[in-house]
Amino acid sequence: MVPQMKPALRRGWRDLNTVQFGMTPAHALTLGPIDTATGSFLDLLNGTRGLALLREEGRRSDLPDGHVDTLVGRLARAGLVDDARGGGPAADTLREKKEILDRLAPDLASLSLTTSEPGDAMRLLAARRSLRVQVRGAGRVGVTLAALLSGAGVGEVDVRDGGRVEPGDVAPGGLPAASVGDLRSTAARRAVSAAAPGHPPRHGSRASVTADDTGFSLVVLAPRDDVDVHAPAPAAGEPLVRSGTPHLYAGVVEATGVVGPLVLPGETGCAGCLHENRTDRDQAWPRLVAQWRSGGRRLPARPCDLALATTVAGLAAAHALAFLDGRVPSSAGARWEVSLPGMTWHARPVWPHSACPCGAAEKGKGEHTSKEEAAHETMAEQRSSEELCRKATAPRPAGTWRAHV
Ligand SMILES: [Zn+2]
Repeated sequence: MVPQMKPALRRGWRDLNTVQFGMTPAHALTLGPIDTATGSFLDLLNGTRGLALLREEGRRSDLPDGHVDTLVGRLARAGLVDDARGGGPAADTLREKKEILDRLAPDLASLSLTTSEPGDAMRLLAARRSLRVQVRGAGRVGVTLAALLSGAGVGEVDVRDGGRVEPGDVAPGGLPAASVGDLRSTAARRAVSAAAPGHPPRHGSRASVTADDTGFSLVVLAPRDDVDVHAPAPAAGEPLVRSGTPHLYAGVVEATGVVGPLVLPGETGCAGCLHENRTDRDQAWPRLVAQWRSGGRRLPARPCDLALATTVAGLAAAHALAFLDGRVPSSAGARWEVSLPGMTWHARPVWPHSACPCGAAEKGKGEHTSKEEAAHETMAEQRSSEELCRKATAPRPAGTWRAHV
């Protein structure tokens, strides 16, 4: 291990023997008491010296025997230390690709804040390169989202959609104006590849990529159709549930942006559960959905505010990356919704439903009878919203805490 104090954490001395690492309550912590010799020793943990060399430096600075190992161990346990050479073989390969790593440096620094084991940030960043994600829908939300995932280092992002690019599909960060009239799938593929920080490692030919519709780490459903955003069809999600493929919904309906639910098949509520819950609460729901779907009147252009679409794409991409990096973001079993012009995000839980064949309700945890749910709907949503907020910021307690070194 080649220890390195995480450079992403700003350092500040609170007093003569207490250091604070980081600025924001979510990730800052303080260290103390810490003597002057140890304090200046921290500067040597910069990713250029291995432990043997550090022990030597420690002896030179008259630090007691064993102090260096104890110090590094404790700093590592506090999540303050990275390993400049860690992360495994894929990380080593990525380290050799300087251009790519330069592009991803801010993402790597950010990952170092949300991981605690030395080397984990680099391991996760390298792992993204071997992941396959499919995005269904090449509108304002879908292509921007796909480009974000590609730009953040996800190795393969496959965008599916039919038809040709219309002027209203164009978005900064998504489809360029020059692509109007092109096939949506082709134009989206170009946008994804233009956003990529380099070529992903080769695993399988291009042909297999286009033919193979399985084996995705995540499928994102970002429909251009507003009814599909508001009332995702259980039938469309069913094959994903059956194949055990995690999937995330995102989109814009009227002036509301939606991110979620992230469906972990058999574990969290799916589109079918959502439909059943809504039908329990409002018997007119299926009738309304049928009318919306049959079109009634054709809208000349579906409302989709550009900034809202970009916001949704950004948040959905962040949830997707959190999941791909091995976390469970707060959209698992919930829909985050935000409406113009107030822009206050709310999480609405998507409870597993016993009438849904996805099996999430049988897991027991989080199961609610429809009666109970109807009675407590508002309260439950409120409570769950708070819980989700807490969960989302949970990895470390708020405020600073002391790690005694
Ligand atoms: Zn379900």
